[in-house]
Amino acid sequence: MQEKPKVLLVGKVRERIAERLEDEAEVVRCVAPLVPGALGPVLAAGIRGVAVSNNFGAPAIGCLPNLEIIANFGVGYDGIAVEAAAARGIVVTNTPDVLNDEVADSAIGLLLNTLRRFPEAEAWLRDGRWERTGAFPLSPLTLRGRSIGIYGLGRIGLAIARRLEGFGVSISYHTRTGKPDAPYVYHPTLLGMAEAVDTLIAIVPKTPDTYKTIDATVLSALGPNGVLINVGRGWTVDEDALARALATGTIAAAGLDVFQDEPHVPEALLAAPNTCLLPHVASASVATRDAMADLVADNLLAWFRTGSPLTPVPETPVMRS
Ligand code: NDP
Repeated sequence: MQEKPKVLLVGKVRERIAERLEDEAEVVRCVAPLVPGALGPVLAAGIRGVAVSNNFGAPAIGCLPNLEIIANFGVGYDGIAVEAAAARGIVVTNTPDVLNDEVADSAIGLLLNTLRRFPEAEAWLRDGRWERTGAFPLSPLTLRGRSIGIYGLGRIGLAIARRLEGFGVSISYHTRTGKPDAPYVYHPTLLGMAEAVDTLIAIVPKTPDTYKTIDATVLSALGPNGVLINVGRGWTVDEDALARALATGTIAAAGLDVFQDEPHVPEALLAAPNTCLLPHVASASVATRDAMADLVADNLLAWFRTGSPLTPVPETPVMRS
């Protein structure tokens, strides 16, 4: 009987991945990050596949001489050394599409919570202030009449735009290339879009080109009624500039699910009364995380069965001899 391929589960990944793999693969576990010597040479040489949650750099890849596939749990794969993988002919897969609706729903929830201050209103009720003091103060901000610019109109950005259509707001977007099929106004520059809208929703990947692109100039362009929602990556926002813009009234409010240095959240953003802050939970329902885990397992199983992974990332070749 042919030996089962060995798959390394790195760090804390969903148990469902191991359950899905166990009939056809031998599952090995290690803590993240994988460092040289952690596995011993014989075991390291036997590992053909890895399942990991966006944390597998070039040193980790270097630990596994016969690695064929890195299956990432997450659509964003900025924590995977794709260039090092590509150089060795290792396939990297991610989990696109299965989380679009959940993340888009979360973006809308965060937008409404930021504008209408529902978390504060609930705290008001639970603290007994409704009974003791009276009605919660009117929210100065509303979704009504807003003009929304989506920074990134990919799989998730499009799902956000479709939801926004139902809210009767104006919708535009900025990406590097216009999307001819999208019925929204295209802005070739982020600053141009920020000047034209009052609400910016960011859902772009972490790449060298997106680093701190939401800076003081872009925030200022949104204006004093401006609102920033970020469900992409904290990397995209200059957090110091954002804290200043919130403190000075340059913009009105921000709703953030992601931060530059997670799980650390800057004190200035925590202390600001006009922020709504979430601990990177946009895709974090059991159903959606199960679907992501299934896609991780299905990529590994498809690779070992047929040599064709289901959702390889564009940077890595698919070539199993
Ligand atoms: P896609 O690849 O489908 O979409 C990315 C979009 O960003 C495209 O429209 C692309 O258009 C645009 N884009 C990329 N680079 C730039 C740039 N430099 N300037 C302007 N636009 C750019 O990705 P998804 O929609 O599936 O996911 C987007 C990101 O969301 C993920 O990479 C991840 O980081 C984040 N995410 C966050 C989650 C959370 O829990 N908060 C959950 C899931 C995802 P074009 O190529 O034309 O520029």
